[in-house]
Amino acid sequence: SKKIVIIGGVGGGMSAATRMRRLDESATITVFEKGPYASYANCGIPYALSKVIRDDAALVLHTPEYFKEVFNIDVYLNTEVVEIDRINEQVCTRTAGEAEIRRVDYDKLILSQGTDAIRPQITGVDQNHVVTLRTLSDLQAIRTLMLQRCPTDVCIIGGGYISLEAAENLRKMKFGVSIVEQGTHVLPPLDADIAQALHAELKRNGVRLFLNDTVRRIEKSYVVMARNGREIPADMVILAAGVTPKTSLAKLAGLEVGKQGVKVESHMETSDEDIYAVGDMVETKHMIQKQPCVVALGGPANRQGRLAADHIAGKPVHYRGNIGTTICQVFDLTVGLAGLSVAALRRLGQEPLWVTVHPPHHASYYPDAHPITIKTAFERGTGRILGVQAVGMAGVDKRIDVLATAMQAGMTVLDLEHLELSYAPPYGSAKDAVNMVGFVSSNLLRGDYKLVHAEDISVENLSAWQVVDVRSPDEFATGHLPHAINLPIGTLRDRVSKIDNSIPTLVYCSVGYRGYLAYRILSQRGFNVVNLDGGLKTVVEGG
Ligand code: FAD
Repeated sequence: SKKIVIIGGVGGGMSAATRMRRLDESATITVFEKGPYASYANCGIPYALSKVIRDDAALVLHTPEYFKEVFNIDVYLNTEVVEIDRINEQVCTRTAGEAEIRRVDYDKLILSQGTDAIRPQITGVDQNHVVTLRTLSDLQAIRTLMLQRCPTDVCIIGGGYISLEAAENLRKMKFGVSIVEQGTHVLPPLDADIAQALHAELKRNGVRLFLNDTVRRIEKSYVVMARNGREIPADMVILAAGVTPKTSLAKLAGLEVGKQGVKVESHMETSDEDIYAVGDMVETKHMIQKQPCVVALGGPANRQGRLAADHIAGKPVHYRGNIGTTICQVFDLTVGLAGLSVAALRRLGQEPLWVTVHPPHHASYYPDAHPITIKTAFERGTGRILGVQAVGMAGVDKRIDVLATAMQAGMTVLDLEHLELSYAPPYGSAKDAVNMVGFVSSNLLRGDYKLVHAEDISVENLSAWQVVDVRSPDEFATGHLPHAINLPIGTLRDRVSKIDNSIPTLVYCSVGYRGYLAYRILSQRGFNVVNLDGGLKTVVEGG
């Protein structure tokens, strides 16, 4: 019988182990997990901190006893693999508290070791009130710290999704919370304009945000900011500055490691055909970027673990790559991302087209309809979808998943016009938000429609246009673009003589729809006209 050894007993590791057993009753399957728990949901940890998930035990999905009983898998906790001996096909393990090194044979080895938290080089970072929030042990350590020191203010270093989830849950617990992010905005994979809604939501919920800044020094009850030496109260500091794949064991064994993670073939085989690697520690192909990248997310890790087991069992499987589909709750908002932001595409030298729409998440006449902002980037010429970002109070999860599916199926924005999606008033609209993305993007792609983006709006640029605000006088009175004249959409046909069709014209409304109607009216009357993408909402909320 085959001897299968797995290093790491959480996301990818346990998926590989259980799939292996489902496919091969005769294999000997052994899992070594360095930590005190296997098969637990680290994704739930921020919510367990505030007791939204009431009982920590709920995070431990299964025990070693369960795996032995149901799957006949041996799971050794507190047991680290310290060396891989490829010549003899053995791993060397050491159990916590014991000096003895055991050697265990393998025919096939699967690495699913995850990542290490990046520890920024900050003076004072090694004090015991500086913690990470990544494992169940971290959660317990934070609880102990809270009991011993009774902290009142927490500074979170880093503005990624774990930071935002931690911030929300710490505010629920009435802590003063600051987030320090060295970039221009939280959740760096997003475009800055989309992140502005998150900034507003964080501030609305009492989170202090320090952007474009870092922490220079950590003291007992405050941190000192790098930019201006300002002191921020913090008697607990959470490091959430990103992760780096655990590659040292693989490197020591002579396996090929790329710029970031362990290199794998499309069926998760490393440079040694008897060793597979999966999850946060590997580099896989990014379907948009076309380059190897690390995607440290639960879905890819679990699917890759399963796929490695399939391949070992002789199935002709291939991992298709990632688009980095991510979702995160930020207080009352949800933000989602799949593929690349416009900024990321530009960094790769691409010049995508993109549109921003703000459709309601369900029929506007049904109570509690909330707008979703959806920004969609696509390839010039083909319309291939390259990236979607969505933020709103409701319905974001559905749209981001439909769009992520469309992207992985290689669909274009033209296909989105045709998607037949479910509709009843409490759930969606007859023209769903995803269809709206398709309509607006396809108009642009086909050259039926011209727009400018919020980033093209500046005082200098505006003076080159005749600017027409087609909202109502009441809306106009609440604020408008400089030089704008107000011709409400219902009056435009009658008052078209008030504007000059020899001057380039910019039309706009609040979210883009009435501006688009005005675009149609004016373009058919010979105007050289553009509409403001996403309307004034995109300019105002996008900062
Ligand atoms: P891990 O699950 O990290 O498991 C690796 C295991 O290997 C660890 O337990 C480690 O102790 C063990 N190990 C390492 N080296 C050795 C060794 N030498 N010997 C023995 N054992 C070893 N993803 C999402 O998609 N959505 C979310 O909402 C989400 N939320 C998250 C929230 C938090 C707080 C955290 C920390 C992560 C979150 N993730 C989320 C990410 C997700 O948990 C990971 O992508 C996933 O767990 C990766 O699985 P993995 O098997 O690669 O690594």
